[in-house]
Amino acid sequence: MRSLICHLRYDSRVRFKFTHLLPLGHHKLLSLITELRQRPCPHCQRSETLIRHGYSTGYKAHGHQREVRRFRFFCSNRHNRPGCGRTFSILWSHLIARSSMAASQLLELISQVTQGVPLHRVWHQGDFTFSITTAYRWFQRWQLHQAHLRSHLCQTHPPPRGDLGSAGASTFLHLSQTYPNECCRITAFQNQHQQDFLP
Ligand SMILES: [Zn+2]
Repeated sequence: MRSLICHLRYDSRVRFKFTHLLPLGHHKLLSLITELRQRPCPHCQRSETLIRHGYSTGYKAHGHQREVRRFRFFCSNRHNRPGCGRTFSILWSHLIARSSMAASQLLELISQVTQGVPLHRVWHQGDFTFSITTAYRWFQRWQLHQAHLRSHLCQTHPPPRGDLGSAGASTFLHLSQTYPNECCRITAFQNQHQQDFLP
């Protein structure tokens, strides 16, 4: 279990947000929750104060079934417990927060559009479960958050050289070079930095 917790990059100084433990199975998840309860609160650093505080669900990226998308924890200050009363959540890193979109779908969308394929054609030809309006909105967010992405990517890999035609194309290549062996580079980004790929 110790090695699994290391994968979580749990650091009490930062807000722990993403985990990729889901593919490891439900029993590992239960172990994770038990372990987390013994760890310090990311807000007040006190130990032995965290309790489970429910979860939220959303529709899967494919199909109409719902899935658990985040677990909430509460630093208990009830019944004279010494916690701070604040909450924090853990999300699966293969999902995009505040969306039903999977990280791999967003990556596919960005990949094709930055290569010059018109967005409406990408959406019509793709197997996406979200609307074309959603596709445009998230691609606009990608364009707006170039500086955020580059500043994080530069922590791991230097930016690509040369003129690639657009800022988005350069950032996408930077992302690919930073995580060359990952099947979903957005998932890898969220795991490493514990932040939303697009805030
Ligand atoms: Zn606390």
